Amino acid sequence: MAKMSVDDKLGVIKFMTDEHESHIEINEDYHDEAEIHRLVMACPAELYKYTDGKLIFNHEGCLECGTCRVISGGKGVKSWKHPKGAMGVEYHQG
Ligand code: SF4
Repeated sequence: MAKMSVDDKLGVIKFMTDEHESHIEINEDYHDEAEIHRLVMACPAELYKYTDGKLIFNHEGCLECGTCRVISGGKGVKSWKHPKGAMGVEYHQG
């Protein structure tokens, strides 16, 4: 079996997206630019954006790695939990 690149592996991930509820809640009024920069840079799925002085987040495509929860320390990321039931990411390749 040929070795897969990271992009190839990300390409085969499937998601059951909960369109009604995000499993991660952010503080949209948080303005610590150093922490916001860490969130934007650390998320492997690039789900955090900082635009016009506002932190924006979209939970669709979350890999559930927990990185944002760990580096935020409960400030920019107000709450983090796994998606409900069978929702969320479904890995197929390691
Ligand atoms: S859990 Fe991982 S993939 Fe999901 S938003 Fe946080 S850093 Fe990004």
